[in-house]
Amino acid sequence: MDGKSLIAGEWTAGEGTFQSAPATGEPVNYTKGTPELVARACVAAEDAFWSYGYSTRESRAAFLDKVADEIDARGETITEIGCAETGLPSARLEGERGRTIGQLKLFANHIRKGDYLDYRHDSALADRQPLPRPDIKMVQRPIGPVAVFGASNFPLAFSTAGGDTAAALAAGCPVIAKGHPAHPGTGEIVAEAIDAARRGEGLHPGVFSFVHDGGNAVGAALVQDPFIKAVGFTGSLRGGRALFDLCAARDEPIPFFGELGSVNPMFLLPEAVKARGAEIARGWAASLTMGAGQFCTNPGLAFVSDGSDAEAFIAETVNALGESVAQTMLTDGIAQAFRNGRDKVSSIPGVETLCAGVADHRSVGAFLYRVSADTFEANPVLAHEVFGPLGIVVVADTAKTFRSLAGSLEGQLTATLHSDGGDARLAADLLPVLERKAGRIILNGFPTGVEVADSMVHGGPFPASTNFGATSVGTLAIRRFLRPVCYQNLPDEMLPTI
Ligand code: NAP
Repeated sequence: MDGKSLIAGEWTAGEGTFQSAPATGEPVNYTKGTPELVARACVAAEDAFWSYGYSTRESRAAFLDKVADEIDARGETITEIGCAETGLPSARLEGERGRTIGQLKLFANHIRKGDYLDYRHDSALADRQPLPRPDIKMVQRPIGPVAVFGASNFPLAFSTAGGDTAAALAAGCPVIAKGHPAHPGTGEIVAEAIDAARRGEGLHPGVFSFVHDGGNAVGAALVQDPFIKAVGFTGSLRGGRALFDLCAARDEPIPFFGELGSVNPMFLLPEAVKARGAEIARGWAASLTMGAGQFCTNPGLAFVSDGSDAEAFIAETVNALGESVAQTMLTDGIAQAFRNGRDKVSSIPGVETLCAGVADHRSVGAFLYRVSADTFEANPVLAHEVFGPLGIVVVADTAKTFRSLAGSLEGQLTATLHSDGGDARLAADLLPVLERKAGRIILNGFPTGVEVADSMVHGGPFPASTNFGATSVGTLAIRRFLRPVCYQNLPDEMLPTI
């Protein structure tokens, strides 16, 4: 690694330096990205679009396969650097690498099949009365250069060569990735892998650029560059909202596909709690603490109805969380934000602390709180995401109030129902509300663990995402970077290669 940004095939120094803040090992110096480097990358990306945007599906699929191979070839180094930077265990980084490679190959196969083009054809009706119908064809076309902001919590699968990048490159859009300050070294080596694949496939150098972090000015310049036609983002509500507003305020507003916060509520219906409350409690504790709770699908809220079964469920959750070990958070900033969120929750009158782990520098244990439904409804902050291993049990007088409690929630990535046969009527009552609130509804399971598949939806109403018609996981993610174009009376030989 040389601490430089990759601008249209050239490793280029920015202005000044910043230091990484790894969980283990020594900090490393990187040269900062700049708005000027962003502008150069965007010019090159626009230039690249005139070839890459018109390339064959097979050539793009071959490129994606090659990117996967190049990442795999650097596997050990990526794991080593990634673990040091993020504090995540090597098994997690290795698993994430497999997922990243799998995603790239999934998109390669997806475009090979061609269904995503949604090709439609209404043949001409020359004799139609009172007016003839023209020949009309429609196909999805790539939109142009795309900006990608990688996530701190998935240094591989949601970052430089993550789902957003794979979807955009599959669509035919050049990508400019903004390096995340939490894992600059991981970002750089993955960028190097993508560039090696690009060179190997003889593609235009502007197809992929990687700009190191350089403060807010770099991200702001990227989303405001006139050549950028859409943005993929995973991160905080605050950062996402700021960038979303910049996209909307441009002379030419562009879509901002932000995946922001979610508390992923779970509704525990009475028969399910009675039959298997202890099992659900242990499953919740495991899901809540997985990866130090740093998952966008972390289930932070559990709704139960008052009674001895609920008490047994709560006691078992406390037991299970008590057995969990403290883990390292991704960055000092995320650890501090966790402590701030915890303090906000615990200082609200009526909030009872059930479990309090450590929260020392970057090391955190599990926290569990209990509130009544009345306290929950009176304090909307209790429904805000605290990124980390923090859960709140909301105890309602009766499960009949779950419908209105669910109705009071903001948009969510997921909502979970734990329901047995005797709960069917309550579940049926709740389901239409959950459907309006969440992108994915889960029955008798836990929301962490997002399958990368054709039918996956990882999105939802704001603030879960800034665009509820889209997903950032699964093959449907490609639609964000396509635009339907209608060709009226154009013969096939005049249509673009599809
Ligand atoms: P973040 O602060 O939103 O940063 C994400 C990216 O956006 C970084 O590259 C950041 O770079 C850039 N950025 C942020 N604000 C910006 C602005 N105003 N203008 C231009 N660029 C901006 O998120 P994070 O650092 O990854 O994590 C912080 C918090 O985000 C966590 O504590 C958690 O609450 C939340 N988070 C949520 C999810 C989720 O999936 N829901 C995932 C990860 C994190 P610079 O700030 O260096 O410019």
